[in-house]
Amino acid sequence: MTASCDVIVIGGGSGGSAFSKRAAGYGAKVVLVERGPSWNEQGQRTGAGPGGTCVNVGCVPKKLMFMAAAHREMMVGELATAKGYGFTVPEGAGKVQWEALQQRRDEYVKKLNKNYTAGWQKEGVEIVEGTAQFVDSSTVEVQRKDGSKTTLCGKKILIACGGIPDAPPIPGIEHAINSDGFFELKKQPKKVAVIGAGYIAVEMAGILHALGSETHLYFRGDTVLRRGFDPFIVKLLMEALEHHGPVLHRNSQPSRITKQSNGLLTYTATEGSNAEQKVYTDFDCILLAIGRKPVTDQLGLQKCGVLTNKSGHIVVDAFENTNVPGIYAIGDATSTGFELTPVAIAAGRRLADRLFLGEGRARIAYEQIATVVFSHPPIGCIGLTEPQAKAEFGEANVKVKQSSFASMLYAFNDDGKKVKTGLKLVLKMPEERVVGLHCIGPYSDEMMQGFAVAVRMGATRADFEASVAIHPTIAEEFVTFG
Ligand code: FAD
Ligand code: NDP
Repeated sequence: MTASCDVIVIGGGSGGSAFSKRAAGYGAKVVLVERGPSWNEQGQRTGAGPGGTCVNVGCVPKKLMFMAAAHREMMVGELATAKGYGFTVPEGAGKVQWEALQQRRDEYVKKLNKNYTAGWQKEGVEIVEGTAQFVDSSTVEVQRKDGSKTTLCGKKILIACGGIPDAPPIPGIEHAINSDGFFELKKQPKKVAVIGAGYIAVEMAGILHALGSETHLYFRGDTVLRRGFDPFIVKLLMEALEHHGPVLHRNSQPSRITKQSNGLLTYTATEGSNAEQKVYTDFDCILLAIGRKPVTDQLGLQKCGVLTNKSGHIVVDAFENTNVPGIYAIGDATSTGFELTPVAIAAGRRLADRLFLGEGRARIAYEQIATVVFSHPPIGCIGLTEPQAKAEFGEANVKVKQSSFASMLYAFNDDGKKVKTGLKLVLKMPEERVVGLHCIGPYSDEMMQGFAVAVRMGATRADFEASVAIHPTIAEEFVTFG
């Protein structure tokens, strides 16, 4: 069967879904191809389905686990606050019922899967379930799970296929899991090695540690989050991790994983300046989180001539155009360098505005994108780091306001007071425009969105100071810096 439409969308994740609904809302005939479903008939997870990575194996189930961890953190451990505030915490409290949590989390995700499909149907998006491959620059063939095929012709085609976890080429890799596997864990690991230094490694190591697993975090540099985060924030995060986080293993490169005769795992790493082989034993789980790669190699791009860069990301301009007229790409599969749900959504919506509403210059601005790392404590930031601002405007044209302090949350926990909250403004002189805003500490995740609006609007320090503080909060420090 061959069907034609205004636009074929490959991938029903954050970006593809947002684009499809908006384009269909403007009256375009949209056909959305999604590999899904997320679970097979045997109840096994099959990766991303309706809603993509974010809904199935990303932001949503991760945040639920983060919130589970936050509950335990209040009850037991160095950062526990419940006792200090007068609650009786019984002996043995804080044992999470992993299976029950997993089941509820998966039910929540399945509900979202349904909501996504219903949302597409409501907007009149036609859904084709299967895997899409290009035939030529306006034709796509979809292979369904039952082996049947459908051919689709589109005046335009949007690639929104996202990515999957990457893995280092080390022996024994088959014994490790990745972030997808984290959501498959049937029971809580007793002793877990997390390898990586980015968002996922930091977040998942933090969750596992806070839920009570013995957690070891291995990374190649001196710190985690080496790219794109302000040094002040990274320093405070490292202090917090050292104080109450997983066991840290710096300057550590993955080398090999082997299975012990008792079924547990041994992790060997190359460490230090002498490249010493260090052997760590008795893990019941090894989780690799060293970055993600786009799934563009499965699209047959050579048939339509769309170019990718060395890492396989589709090369796009600021308007999501690929090198082939009529073929566009958004989200994690692109060369934009941002792998965040709201970025994929915003890019999809702007593209729909441009293509089907006639908003000729509509595009997402990649310059000031706020982001949060759900670490322990969480980090929020927008704009330039101090080194980036100095490189862009010159050292003399950048002023910094920063402070660190113990959060009032830990008023009754002396140990907690050692974990510092930190806030920082990076100002461009002479007008003192806020070009970077960074924070680490309780509630930083929830604090960022409003500040992101202000920074995007070009707020200056005078604007911040003119805003009367909300007291007592952590965020008030941003408007009361002396
Ligand atoms: P995806 O959401 O990956 O969607 C792509 C879709 O395309 C998938 O459903 C896939 O099945 C489908 N597909 C692929 N190839 C084909 C094909 N050939 N034919 C048909 N369908 C196909 N971002 C945040 O902003 N905040 C967070 O807290 C956050 N947490 C994360 C936690 C984890 C563990 C991970 C892995 C990611 C997290 N992210 C987070 C990143 C976020 O999930 C991604 O940036 C976002 O999902 C990208 O959207 P996308 O539309 O580009 O791709
Ligand atoms: P990241 O790109 O964030 O970090 C991966 C890090 O792993 C690298 O920076 C590198 O750090 C390290 N690394 C790379 N290769 C190796 C290797 N061979 N051996 C050891 N370490 C290695 O990737 P993630 O997988 O953590 O996450 C992917 C993306 O998903 C993120 O970039 C983010 O955009 C998104 N995400 C967003 C979240 C949020 O918004 N809260 C949460 C989770 C994911 P170094 O060079 O220092 O060694």
